[in-house]
Amino acid sequence: MRISIASGKGGTGKTSLALLLASERPGITVIDSDVEEPNCHLFLKTEQKQEKVVTIMVPGIDNEKCSGCEVCAEACFFNAIAVVGGKAMVFDELCHSCGGCLLKCPQGAISEAEKPIGIVSSGYSTTVAGTRLMSGLLNIGVPSGVPLIKALLKEARTIEGEVIVDCPPGTSCSMVSAVKDSDYCLLVTEPTPFGRHDLALAINITQLLNLRTGVVINKNDGGDGDEAIEELCHSRGISVVAKIPYSHSFAREYSNGKISLENRTIAEDIWRQIQCVGRERKA
Ligand code: SF4
Ligand code: SF4
Repeated sequence: MRISIASGKGGTGKTSLALLLASERPGITVIDSDVEEPNCHLFLKTEQKQEKVVTIMVPGIDNEKCSGCEVCAEACFFNAIAVVGGKAMVFDELCHSCGGCLLKCPQGAISEAEKPIGIVSSGYSTTVAGTRLMSGLLNIGVPSGVPLIKALLKEARTIEGEVIVDCPPGTSCSMVSAVKDSDYCLLVTEPTPFGRHDLALAINITQLLNLRTGVVINKNDGGDGDEAIEELCHSRGISVVAKIPYSHSFAREYSNGKISLENRTIAEDIWRQIQCVGRERKA
């Protein structure tokens, strides 16, 4: 069962929830798909690490063959090719590797070459025995993490048992790629107007993808903010599966790279609810 942990905004506590759940189920796999800023490794501290370079295909132009006809530039939906001074130029950063320009070039002047975009790594945690961590790290300057997230999740597709995917923040294409094949999505929010606003956006995504979804209110203080989140969830037909109280000591341990276990009973309760969803899926 693949459980994604996402949120509409950064800083709500996705990673701390992913780590808390993982520490209650040693032996599961955690996938850190926040490839622009992975941080699960700071807590799970992996060893026996294996790394693999991920590449995408980008076009290269043979200037000897190029006639400057501009067919490729007109064919590219992403404005990744321009013809300047009668010769085509490719802007790798804008290229989505669709291969369309290759098919269209009447001179056969375009070929493809591999461009490294990042690495996926896999290793076993030294802090939570038996837990495997897979993560992606996007190269600096690569504009989109989506191809790397897809490569990371493809590597993980044969893993059996429970898998937790710590997703990128926000509701961009990266978040969509990370959550879309999950069996259950936990959306983590905080009881603030900003948290509520971005939770509504994240719910739009999971409902569009038809994903079973639950909400965790983190840094809960029992104030008006909690009520506003609960009202939103109620109006969208989504359960609040847990409320995690604001805790100074939890935050201190997190900032020191430690997985705080002070909310273990909450984690157990979340697992119980997730397993109920798993049983409903199988039934
Ligand atoms: S389509 Fe081919 S020949 Fe025409 S400008 Fe592009 S690369 Fe050059
Ligand atoms: S591969 Fe696709 S996105 Fe990239 S330059 Fe060619 S047409 Fe544009």
